[in-house]
Amino acid sequence: MTTTLQSYVQGAWHAGTGEGRPLYNATTEEPMATVNSDGIDFGAVLDHARSVGGPALRAMSFAERGAMLKALSGAIHEHREELLDLSVANTGTTRKDGKFDIDGATGTLAAYSYFAKELPDTPFIADGDGIQLGRTARFWGQHIWVPRHGAAVHINAFNFPAWNMMEKAACALLAGVPVIEKPGTPTAMVAWRIAQITVESGILPEGAYQFIAGSTGDLLDKMGPQDVLAFTGSSWTAAKLRSNENCIRNSVHMNIEADSLNAAVLAPDAEEGSEAWNLFLRNVALDIRQKTGQKCTAVRRVLVPSERMDDVRGEIEAQLAAVVTGDPVDSATTMGPLASASQLRDVRAGIEKLSGAGKLVCGGAEQVHDKGYFVAPTLIEAADADADAFHADEVFGPCASLLPYDGSAEEAARIVARGEGSLIGSVYSNDSAWVESAVLAMAPWHGRLWVGSDKMAEQSIPPGTVLPAMIHGGPGRAGGGEELGGIRGLADYMQRTAVQGFKGQVHGSFGASAPATATT
Ligand code: NAP
Repeated sequence: MTTTLQSYVQGAWHAGTGEGRPLYNATTEEPMATVNSDGIDFGAVLDHARSVGGPALRAMSFAERGAMLKALSGAIHEHREELLDLSVANTGTTRKDGKFDIDGATGTLAAYSYFAKELPDTPFIADGDGIQLGRTARFWGQHIWVPRHGAAVHINAFNFPAWNMMEKAACALLAGVPVIEKPGTPTAMVAWRIAQITVESGILPEGAYQFIAGSTGDLLDKMGPQDVLAFTGSSWTAAKLRSNENCIRNSVHMNIEADSLNAAVLAPDAEEGSEAWNLFLRNVALDIRQKTGQKCTAVRRVLVPSERMDDVRGEIEAQLAAVVTGDPVDSATTMGPLASASQLRDVRAGIEKLSGAGKLVCGGAEQVHDKGYFVAPTLIEAADADADAFHADEVFGPCASLLPYDGSAEEAARIVARGEGSLIGSVYSNDSAWVESAVLAMAPWHGRLWVGSDKMAEQSIPPGTVLPAMIHGGPGRAGGGEELGGIRGLADYMQRTAVQGFKGQVHGSFGASAPATATT
């Protein structure tokens, strides 16, 4: 029997009035649930957030909202085992990889409750020091951040149903802005169960959290100038959302997190057997296998000095040969299926295209088991690192390409930039001069750079892990957005305003150390 996933809108659960779109068990291909949002009045959903949720959140201090996030993190964590089971069945992830999503969600909520401690006891955040604008200090200016009086619409990708929802919600709720969450449909069961837990916990004020199972209908056509749209998904969908006429007319603030052809670069100095070398191999193999390669931060292009290609190829191939593909319920399995039939179709087509441009080292486009959306971990080697296919499309599965380069930081950066903007780039080197050149040349094309070396290997958290304290996003193909980064992550949900006037008033009320006397 399948479950009907309901939406939570205007303070009540709502089952769509139309025919449901099915979700499947990624291993058995059996239907698990349906979603349908027909009959929802999306204008009323936005109004509910703006008129009920927004004022309730803004009546709370940053510290109170931080405490609310901590409580929510705890409430979701209590259901960890159940959520991991659901994650295994609906997303096809192994239990270990499922923790990445579920613990990522609760961990990010907890992190934002901690970041709230840095925030003032005022309904605004002072941005830097005040500035003398007149001949004397009498005429003064100060920048402040205030919460937007709209709704935050969050459209999320299928690959991290828990984390993607809660990393966005943590920033918006702490800023004082109510959220409307829409998960990717193929894995919506995990997000829906978290929505139930969130609503039943009663931790968030009414109107602060609404949840859409299924299509967002005409929601974007109803968004207004104080609303925010934060999207994670493919660049194709992003382009469609960006061109919404109503959003353009109302200058709806958008943050887009899209595709990325992330690169890992091995420098010539990282000697075989060194910590940096081992870290490089381990991280590349992990990114290909973990969550069956369905991580926006997973490495897709691996740059290796030409003369070291043989060693690297052999080592990665050996690590991928140890991957056990199968039913993620089985504890021996280290890589489950892709999340959906359409994912399987897209990944197989992508592998075929890359194989046509290079040499298949291992894996391939064939479906691995009779049932379920399985492919093998795949490595493809390019003879020519500049062949267009390796820089054109993200294959969102367990697949990466090996690209030879001449060993110089400048040449590596040039090849990496052909990806036209990435979320994360990693380099592996103990040579500080090489690293400095690579970082400066790669930085304009990246939201985040990760430098692997002997000295940090023991403590490092892999580059594919997004940390709440560091920004997540990237230019160009990656969407041009920026999320997280500690309290920087609140910026999408707040308006920065320059206040100019008599210093006694401006500095007195809005200076960095101002007392909590200003009103919302
Ligand atoms: P997708 O097909 O673009 O869908 C993303 C979200 O947009 C889903 O919730 C989808 O809903 C919704 N959507 C699709 N068309 C829409 C429309 N016309 N109006 C409103 N919403 C619409 O992407 P996906 O397959 O879920 O995710 C995979 C992609 O996400 C990959 O390309 C990956 O690189 C990217 N990604 C990026 C990041 C990042 O942080 N940069 C993180 C994770 C994933 P339905 O599912 O109901 O169609």
